[in-house]
Amino acid sequence: MTWHVLGAGSLGSLWATRLARAGLPVRLILRNPQRLAAYRQAGGLTLIEAGQARQYAVAAELPQASTPIHRLLLACKAYDAQDAVAGIAGRLAPGAELLLLQNGLGSQDEVAQALPGQRCLLVSSTEGAFRPAEFQVVFAGNGQNWLGDPSDPRPPTWLDELQRAGIPHQWTPDILTRLWRKLALNCAINPLTVLHDCRNGGLAEHPAEVATLCAELGELLQRCGQPAAADNLHEEVQRVIHATAANYSSMHQDVALGRRTEISYLLGYACAAAQRHQLHLPHLLQLQQRLLGHLQARGLPVN
Ligand code: NAP
Repeated sequence: MTWHVLGAGSLGSLWATRLARAGLPVRLILRNPQRLAAYRQAGGLTLIEAGQARQYAVAAELPQASTPIHRLLLACKAYDAQDAVAGIAGRLAPGAELLLLQNGLGSQDEVAQALPGQRCLLVSSTEGAFRPAEFQVVFAGNGQNWLGDPSDPRPPTWLDELQRAGIPHQWTPDILTRLWRKLALNCAINPLTVLHDCRNGGLAEHPAEVATLCAELGELLQRCGQPAAADNLHEEVQRVIHATAANYSSMHQDVALGRRTEISYLLGYACAAAQRHQLHLPHLLQLQQRLLGHLQARGLPVN
């Protein structure tokens, strides 16, 4: 069974190269003929791991290709997910499976609603990767890929292929808890690093602000039926701030590089959920307003 990987960005390239390295059939789906031509010019995807670079000539095609898709790794940003699946929906075979790699929450529902009848597996990844150049990826941080399906606790039959490819993974029936927890950590840390223009460790100088946000996020998680995701949230946020003190958060990096953020699927999703539950979380709302103002002032999209 071929693995179709939509998006040759950081995580898409990291998955595609490891699957190809294990001899598994992989095909990249690239956005348009220009991107496909650039990819063919590059000669393949290069994985840089522990300072060693190796190129893999992974086959590539356009969304409009005619072959059916049985298994798709959707490796674009959350704000591109809905349009990206619309472009390949006609190619999905009956019973096709999709792995949704997007950070935050909201995009997974958008995709699932557009594809009734297809199985959407949600992935929460703590691996780290970045692109030093087009069609090159640096494996920057070991981590885990949690996979699950909120509507069906049975694992898929192909997890052994991830094993063969050396892609760390763990099947979990509680994938929503994982995604909510990651979203809450992101909301407590990333926006503040942008507003204070600091590394994660810089938040140690703003303990009261962090504590207030954690309390409100904990309330939100409880109200959204995610008590396990609220467990010791403040302690974990403090631990992450300490353990990743030297790092710039992904949102800080996006803003510094003038790139669109995934705010609508992180803090925006949290604030919308609070509103839906008529939960008054003044600090979280104020954080959203400050962040939106910050993005607007820099000419960056606010969605
Ligand atoms: P990325 O490097 O920006 O890659 C996204 C890729 O998707 C780009 O190459 C983009 O193509 C492609 N794309 C978008 N729409 C497409 C379409 N319609 N057809 C074909 N390709 C399309 O993003 P990323 O860092 O891999 O992140 C992907 C998701 O994983 C995000 O939600 C992110 O938050 C999450 N995540 C990332 C990491 C990490 O370390 N990078 C870790 C954990 C989670 P173009 O190049 O043509 O624009």
